Amino acid sequence: MRGILALPPNAGRQMTLQHVRFDEDLVRRYDRSGPRYTSYPTAVQFTDRFRIPEYRAVAITSNQDPIPRQLSLYVHIPFCSSPCFYCGCTKVITRNHEKAEAYLYRLHREIEMQSELYDRDRVVEQLHFGGGTPTFLTSLEIERLIEKLGQHFTLSSHADREFSIELDPRTITSDTLRDLYRVGFNRCSLGVQDFDPVVQEAVNRVQSVPDTLRLIREAREFGFNSVSVDLIYGLPKQSVDGFSKTLDTVLSARPNRFAVYGYAHLPQMFKPQKQIKVEDLATPETRLKLLGLTIEKLYEAGYVYIGMDHFALPDDELVIAQRNGTLHRNFQGYSTRGYLDLVGLGVSSIGKVGDSYIQNLKTLPEYYGALDRGELPVHRGYTMTRDDIIRRDVIQQIMCYGVLDFAATARRHDIDFRQYFASELAALEPMVGDGLAEWAEPGVRVQPAGRLLLRHLAMAFDAYLPGVQASGQRFSKAI
Ligand code: SF4
Repeated sequence: MRGILALPPNAGRQMTLQHVRFDEDLVRRYDRSGPRYTSYPTAVQFTDRFRIPEYRAVAITSNQDPIPRQLSLYVHIPFCSSPCFYCGCTKVITRNHEKAEAYLYRLHREIEMQSELYDRDRVVEQLHFGGGTPTFLTSLEIERLIEKLGQHFTLSSHADREFSIELDPRTITSDTLRDLYRVGFNRCSLGVQDFDPVVQEAVNRVQSVPDTLRLIREAREFGFNSVSVDLIYGLPKQSVDGFSKTLDTVLSARPNRFAVYGYAHLPQMFKPQKQIKVEDLATPETRLKLLGLTIEKLYEAGYVYIGMDHFALPDDELVIAQRNGTLHRNFQGYSTRGYLDLVGLGVSSIGKVGDSYIQNLKTLPEYYGALDRGELPVHRGYTMTRDDIIRRDVIQQIMCYGVLDFAATARRHDIDFRQYFASELAALEPMVGDGLAEWAEPGVRVQPAGRLLLRHLAMAFDAYLPGVQASGQRFSKAI
């Protein structure tokens, strides 16, 4: 399948951003694994030499900036009542609600301790509840959690705050959804993956179409101003026909955003995936067709390709941020407010404060143990070097805008760009030759055929990748 897919041309930079061309031959040739660059350096570089004292120092320093950054909070709720076999999230499968009570007891304690590190005049503009399944908690538990956050942090009450929550359409009722809006959430994302019953059986996630569509409709009626839907291609037993119907069904509800991920089968890393039979997996040919179909349908429906799996309606903030140069890549994919300091709360959560990443302990016993001893549950972290900061800037430009500005990057970091990145630019040459990008003002421009292969271009600037690959670390594939 080949074809130029582009929105109606707009001026200059925007037009370049919105073109994406699905070139099957090229995609097939570049179907190699690599990081998704939700951070740079990636979590593989986090080290246990960065612990509580280092985190405290970073947090305190962040308060002392002449204009301290406002805050974003990520709250991880790890529980799910059944395992979806494709899942690679950090989660605990249980139907025992008492486990949530034990967790919340510690999470409330962590909120108290973390909030002591940050000045109260730093407003929380962004809040995200992820999991796991945040709605494993009852409405009352979520309300108390929000109250607790409000007691210890200054939560924005401004209409443009972004307070979002991940929903599981299999379990959430209209009343719960209304409660979530009432306690302050104004954005939600729903896992759909595929409506095909055969696929749903194969991945152990049976979810009704009417319930899902009702949820999207009601979210709008109750006042949520953004609804995002997650789909996955490459799942077992998936067919082009079935996925086409799924896309049509979801498109009929016109969510504001789509995240469409390629399934990464890494059963050695994610145990539930062992339940998936390799012979049931979509073939590379089917995966390519599913991806091509997705791009085609979303394009025809008027969605803009943001980059790396993400699509949004033209009036969505992500599209506007991309146009205005304020888009950031972060742990949730893309964000309009990457300038905020991110505080991670809950087991395994990751934060980013100043130029440091901080990850919490990854298992419940470790997480509980630290908090019960009165310690912050810091597992590991990383403080970026000057070189990391320069490379992160370059990788962000590629992942967010598909344009790398040599002169502006050189000015920001006081480097001679061509000298500093001589070997990286040489590594880009074959990709330029293949049509993924071109040498053009202001430096490198990703071409329509390269928009689906952004991570390959970014990988050329990743100083750690050769070592990480040599160590046997596995990443998902590009397609
Ligand atoms: S996909 Fe979501 S609901 Fe399913 S097991 Fe993973 S975290 Fe839980």
